Amino acid sequence: METIHTVEWMKQAARQARAEGRLLGFVPTMGALHAGHVSLVRAAQQTCSPVVVSIFVNPTQFGPKEDFTKYPRPREADVGLLESLGVEYLFAPEAPEMYPPGFSSHAEVEGLSSRLEGRARPGHFRGVATVVLKLLEIVQPWRAFFGRKDAQQARIIQQLARDFHLDAEIEVCPIVREPDGLALSSRNAYLSAEDRRAAVVLNRALAEAREAIGRGERDALALAARMRDLIAHEPRAAADYVEVVRAETFEPAVTLRGACYAIMAVFFGSTRLLDNMLIEERDGKFECTL
Ligand code: AMP
Repeated sequence: METIHTVEWMKQAARQARAEGRLLGFVPTMGALHAGHVSLVRAAQQTCSPVVVSIFVNPTQFGPKEDFTKYPRPREADVGLLESLGVEYLFAPEAPEMYPPGFSSHAEVEGLSSRLEGRARPGHFRGVATVVLKLLEIVQPWRAFFGRKDAQQARIIQQLARDFHLDAEIEVCPIVREPDGLALSSRNAYLSAEDRRAAVVLNRALAEAREAIGRGERDALALAARMRDLIAHEPRAAADYVEVVRAETFEPAVTLRGACYAIMAVFFGSTRLLDNMLIEERDGKFECTL
């Protein structure tokens, strides 16, 4: 694996691969890699070669009171893992390489970025859209791979790619979970043992919503209320938002129809965890994917 630190070098390597007729796959990450990231790499390797993984803890997507400085950066373990997976390029720039002095342009996906995560974390999606646009411009992959774990982020990136006529196909991959159902996240490492045990309540709430849908519940507001109620019964959990939203717009759904997400952000102490379930209507039936 070749580790690349500069934008020019990354562009050159990607240009060379494209000139050889190769189909670049790209997996952007913030590092502290886990099985969720590995699943994206493997998905990329199914159709793409070479695969480029980026590790960049992007300062512009963190709020002033968020965990930018303490975000885990286990670089050696990450490099070892990517090497064992057969990844060809690791793009790992430092912040001044991505944001040199005088940097002043930003990407903003309006509407979608102001809801849920965007409302809770002002400026977050502007930072995400900006860095992803930059990374896609640098690497110019054939396909780029994102996790449904961050469903609103994936939707925003699809919109960004569409609006800016980017060539990259945006692929959204399933959520990888622990055996007890907790979605893998680099932030799970912050949880105390008690909070880790309590955090299964997210998955339980989604599973309960799935059961209710199976019994015929179509009232999205009632589903959200039911999930909120279950989470409120876990004393270690403090819900930030728990909603059922339309998958296209991330606006609250009133009745289940088409594609929706049951989606939540919940605090355990100062650690904020996300989870969601995709609800899709097919031939009048609803399929739920945790
Ligand atoms: P991050 O390093 O947290 O910025 O995540 C990098 C990519 O991995 C994003 O596209 C995430 O949605 C994806 N990802 C994170 N956790 C998971 C998971 N448990 N399952 C699938 N994808 C994930």
